[in-house]
Amino acid sequence: KLYNQLQDLKGNIRVYCRVRPSTGPQPDHHCPVSNIDEGSISLSIPSKNGKDGKKTFNFNRVFAEVFSDTQPLIRSVLDGYNVCIFAYGQTGSGKTHTMSGPDNYTEETVGVNYRALKDLFHLSEQRKDTIHYDISVQMLEIYNEQVRDLLATDEIRNSSHNGINVPDANLVPVSSTSDVLNLMNLGQKNRAVSATAMNDRSSRSHSCLTVHVQGREFASGNSLRGCIHLVDLAGSERVDKSEVTGDRLKEAQHINKSLSALGDVIASLAQKQSHVPYRNSKLTQLLQDSLGGQAKTLMFVHVSPEPDAIGETISTLKFAERVS
Ligand code: ADP
Ligand code: MG
Repeated sequence: KLYNQLQDLKGNIRVYCRVRPSTGPQPDHHCPVSNIDEGSISLSIPSKNGKDGKKTFNFNRVFAEVFSDTQPLIRSVLDGYNVCIFAYGQTGSGKTHTMSGPDNYTEETVGVNYRALKDLFHLSEQRKDTIHYDISVQMLEIYNEQVRDLLATDEIRNSSHNGINVPDANLVPVSSTSDVLNLMNLGQKNRAVSATAMNDRSSRSHSCLTVHVQGREFASGNSLRGCIHLVDLAGSERVDKSEVTGDRLKEAQHINKSLSALGDVIASLAQKQSHVPYRNSKLTQLLQDSLGGQAKTLMFVHVSPEPDAIGETISTLKFAERVS
């Protein structure tokens, strides 16, 4: 309801900010992030002359704990709309926590991915007397501007190939949240296998869980299609070019390029510009049909409360400001 109200006022792009709790040795009063309220966030920015500056950023919503308004988005997927939900932020800021939940999640702490799917099955069940829905799942990873199908494995049988954006990516039919959880685990495992020499590939690639919905209304015979992309983005931190070389530098450049391209696309949609630069990265090409037009976008922007992270926090909030 909240989402729809805001939607009417402000179009199809929402940006929410999430500040994770402090885990460092510093007590919270050293945290440069303050005045967190429903719609804004303030930062104390240390300066050389000893006088701290203050800057306030405004958001559609700022939250620290639980998130509960993805439901209206899920309903719109079942009504035939396309939706993207992104998690943006530096490594360690809480993206995976938001999307997947903590390692040992419970019903209360589970992430957006699982909640979204649960709602999807729940709502489609409620409509079962009027519409039949077929639901299927894709899981892709973008690493160094290359798309990989995380569900391409012998373990998956019975999967149809499908022409949506990635021609040979597996699209696996599912009929319950546990089906999806199994696929998500498989995708995670698949992702880890390729990690080889890199210690944490997951922070340097984008992962995208896509749920496709196809509905057929019994009375009219009409059909509809909708989908939701749940995207855990690569860490947005800038690397110091003087400190990294080779593969690490290449990775950083690819990440930088694709996150800027995403920012450019969303900013140009938010500003209703006529040209939307989808072609500048794999990520925006892949999601082209689900960004802009009637599609709805929700971005969770994550910041860390640690004083050391202030530089990244500022650049993250600037990114957020630009796309909202
Ligand atoms: P990222 O995916 O952005 O690299 P993670 O989601 O892995 O970051 O979060 C880093 C650490 O902080 C994890 O141990 C995670 O469980 C914890 N964390 C992140 N956000 C929260 C939160 N909102 N509440 C409690 N712990 C959190
Ligand atoms: Mg992560």
